[in-house]
Amino acid sequence: MATTERDLYEILGVERGASDAEIKRAFRKQAQQWHPDVSADPAAHDRFKEINDAYQVLSDPERRQRYDMFGRAGVDGSTGGPGAGFEGFGGFSDIFDAFFGGSAGGSAARRGRPQPGADLRYDLRITFEEAVNGTEKEIEFRVLDRCETCSGTGAKVGTEPVTCPQCQGRGEVRSVRQTMLGQMVNVSACPRCRGEGKVVESPCETCRGDGRTERKRALRVAIPAGIDEGHQIRLTNEGELGPRGGPPGSLYVAVHVAPHPSLQRDGTELYYEAKVSIAQAALGTRISVPTVDGDEEVEIKAGTQPATEIRLRGKGVPHLRRSGARGDLHVLVDVQVPTKLSKKQRELLEAYAKEAGEQAGQPGLREKLGL
Ligand SMILES: [Zn+2]
Ligand SMILES: [Zn+2]
Repeated sequence: MATTERDLYEILGVERGASDAEIKRAFRKQAQQWHPDVSADPAAHDRFKEINDAYQVLSDPERRQRYDMFGRAGVDGSTGGPGAGFEGFGGFSDIFDAFFGGSAGGSAARRGRPQPGADLRYDLRITFEEAVNGTEKEIEFRVLDRCETCSGTGAKVGTEPVTCPQCQGRGEVRSVRQTMLGQMVNVSACPRCRGEGKVVESPCETCRGDGRTERKRALRVAIPAGIDEGHQIRLTNEGELGPRGGPPGSLYVAVHVAPHPSLQRDGTELYYEAKVSIAQAALGTRISVPTVDGDEEVEIKAGTQPATEIRLRGKGVPHLRRSGARGDLHVLVDVQVPTKLSKKQRELLEAYAKEAGEQAGQPGLREKLGL
């Protein structure tokens, strides 16, 4: 590798992201110190030449950018052509073509773009019935919105953001690094303008150059029928605005559904556990079942067995994406065996067992209990 030469920024004693004014100031200071007419140091002549050369490159936006991209190879046309890493290439524009597909020069390069705003999340609680039937909700939240003083530019009234002097509006800077494999071009967001391509020289006093202020926003959100716990509704462009005119993010409304006191939900299906007695199961009855459309009378047929499922078709939850389609309500019949019996009930059950020819009851229990 042929680059034993010092870094131009280092020669002037500035950061890579230094502004034009900082570079100029650094050059003046160094030049005053090392001017051969002033300095008695024998190395002053060479040092002054070095400082001057560095300034010639870094004070010229185009040459500075080429230096950022390719190092000395990009700016050393007068002193022996491209560096070692670019052997075999004819010159600067060939190098550029090889790397970037022919977009040499500034005009065709990508422009900087403003950063997009953040996405927001809003937690919305709704009732079980609202989730099943759908609803509309008004929500209110605080959000970073366009600063009205500067119309979102971030610049003081009467001024405008200017093209970033460091990246010439491209929003990115390229630097060259020497590696085992040759020179590597590193592209990164311009540190001066944060990739936006523009900088605000005199910031707006209301938003301090951000282009945004926090404001209250109210929205009506349509909640589709069939929405479930944990679902999110995305409202594009209702999130935070980006700084200095950047596009807005999205608002995600995270839906939380309150549980129903007696219905269980699994997707589009609803479940209800109906407790009936032995007599009701054996003789049949009618029971009242809660549904999302109100209570409904359901027939329990004579001879209904424990764990029987009665399906009420279309009484479940609407499909979120198939309009008109609804799930079912499943009535699960739980036959309850009595744990306490009155004297009369016991006698009747014993009579029932005797009639059925069954061995039932504990001998001596009646006497023991004093019945
Ligand atoms: Zn920039
Ligand atoms: Zn402002």
